Amino acid sequence: MCGKWVTASSRRAENVNMAIFKDIAGLRQWRQSLHGTLALVPTMGNLHEGHLALVRLATNRAEHVLVSIYVNPLQFGPGEDFANYPRTLDQDLQRLHEAGCQTIFTPDDGLMYPRGRQDISIVMPPRSLSKVLCGASRPGHFAGVCTVLSKLLHMVAPEILILGEKDYQQLRIVQQMVADLNLNVQVLAGPLQREADGLAYSSRNTYLNLAERQVAPLLAETLFDLARRSTGDAKVSDLAATGWERLERAGFLPEYLELRNAQTLQSLALPQPGARWFAAARLGQVRLIDNVIIS
Ligand code: AMP
Repeated sequence: MCGKWVTASSRRAENVNMAIFKDIAGLRQWRQSLHGTLALVPTMGNLHEGHLALVRLATNRAEHVLVSIYVNPLQFGPGEDFANYPRTLDQDLQRLHEAGCQTIFTPDDGLMYPRGRQDISIVMPPRSLSKVLCGASRPGHFAGVCTVLSKLLHMVAPEILILGEKDYQQLRIVQQMVADLNLNVQVLAGPLQREADGLAYSSRNTYLNLAERQVAPLLAETLFDLARRSTGDAKVSDLAATGWERLERAGFLPEYLELRNAQTLQSLALPQPGARWFAAARLGQVRLIDNVIIS
């Protein structure tokens, strides 16, 4: 870190009215001084319009907003992109400053996992929600997400937790964790934000090369098309097969393409209003996910 941002523990950034907390004591002191509601927007950084929309939602719903930026190693599997995940703190702070967010929490691994990650207490989400869709190919991912989020919730003690519908399965799992563990926080969901051509904003889009970037919006296009055709007694397996073929023809390697109940995440044989089409597909080295609701 360099430039105009001061990152020393809990110090206010010079010239820009920003507080960047890196330790728990400073964070808690600030928390205790607050009057009014606090919303937490947890992120892994490399902030884009999807994240900033959540910050705006937070600003509308709470008097105070804290954005956390932490690339959580516990939710990455072996061979995944933890080491290469884009870390762009200076740019993130600039964007948050422009979005009017003044308080940021940037813990490091030593603070989050002081005893390492091998033999620690883990928050295990329900199997029915966490072993399907992304959970089928990413064992341990959602336990990593739930563990880091429950730690953040205990450290920050916000009244409101803001999550995006881009990671819809994560949203459902965290809602369930909050209910199951009686956590005293309201979970608010922000709608999925898309680029002009329909591609869902994602930090991983930066991995796409030029040719892949041009093909990438077809994932969203396929889901919207399936959602439009999911009417009456249309057979979900036939719809999924045509979508799968379309993705493959365009150069994707689909991982899943499924219609599921938006609450239980159980798969559906027939369309239902409110259900969602979910997809994960690889384009070159990049794994993209997306979901679209049937209206
Ligand atoms: P991440 O930094 O990828 O962990 O994402 C942090 C939060 O931003 C999560 O709640 C995501 O669901 C949300 N998010 C990421 N991309 C989008 C998007 N395109 N639209 C809405 N929310 C998003």
